[in-house]
Amino acid sequence: MRSSDKVLILSQDYELFFGNSGSPERCLLEPTNALLECAVKHSLKITFYVDAGMLMKMRQLASSSRTLSRTLDQVSAQLRNIVSAGHEIGLHIHPHWQETRWTENGWDFSGTRYKLSQFSDSESESLVKDYHRVLADTCGHAPVSYRAGGFCTDSFSAISDCLFDLGVTVDSSVVPGAKLVDREKGFDFSDSPDIPNWRFDTDPEMAAADGRFVEVPISPVNLPVSYYWGRLLSRFTGRIPSGQFGDGSSKTFNRTEAVRRLLGLRRVAEMSIDLPKVYELARVSRNHTRSVVHIMGHPKLLANQSIDLLVKFIRQANISESQTVESFSRRVRTRPLAGQTRRR
Ligand SMILES: [Zn+2]
Repeated sequence: MRSSDKVLILSQDYELFFGNSGSPERCLLEPTNALLECAVKHSLKITFYVDAGMLMKMRQLASSSRTLSRTLDQVSAQLRNIVSAGHEIGLHIHPHWQETRWTENGWDFSGTRYKLSQFSDSESESLVKDYHRVLADTCGHAPVSYRAGGFCTDSFSAISDCLFDLGVTVDSSVVPGAKLVDREKGFDFSDSPDIPNWRFDTDPEMAAADGRFVEVPISPVNLPVSYYWGRLLSRFTGRIPSGQFGDGSSKTFNRTEAVRRLLGLRRVAEMSIDLPKVYELARVSRNHTRSVVHIMGHPKLLANQSIDLLVKFIRQANISESQTVESFSRRVRTRPLAGQTRRR
């Protein structure tokens, strides 16, 4: 790699679709292997936020289902490979797995609670402990960083002591400036700092100089409204975008949010290698000015094009260094909080 001081953090949410789940082969195993190959070729380190509720459910049901038992073996082997290749495994929590059922037609998510804030504090704490233990057992390595499912950080204060006691001291759920209006799945990061990292205590959006946690936010990007019209069209036709690995589909957001997105000029979203968000990455690569860029994604939403465009971005944006969320978080612990700016 060349000598500039630009850092890339690449993170991936390792999960099935919430809706029509899709197959583990195409949503997890195949795209992750493609990304791991790219990581070897280009000396990248990746943080995989693993949906630990999915793992726990598979473990609970593996003895009664040969399909789930085989999937669990394959997924566990892949996660152990990820760790032995020097990548990071982080804790990702989607609590809907608590009430998800396995049927002859696959996973049934109907009637499940999406957000941790829909659970009591004690339920949330025991869920965090269970998911953390299952993930550590499966990977042979205890996770130290966390990403809230759907970026829903509103329950962080309820689980902060529990996370801290487990040794999870890094969060990576904030996308500075991003907002989703949805009673069930919403978040609002309009007021969060927009800097590469900061310390905080109980609210990831509120920087605190001596905070016991470190936030490593995902870089924001302005998506043009044409992106949302394209998404609407593909949802309407029900087609999986051409080239996408994953073969499932998500539940859509509510009508208010859809209208807000379609009528606005631009909207802040997470920088991502997911199809079709990756095309925005290609557009900003030449005039990219951030010294630290944190790009996320989901194996299920990747395509070979995503990986090609990521490599192109690394070259064009003159990235010289690749860090995991955890390794990058260590920088802020050894440095006083400086240059803190708030949006607005
Ligand atoms: Zn997720």
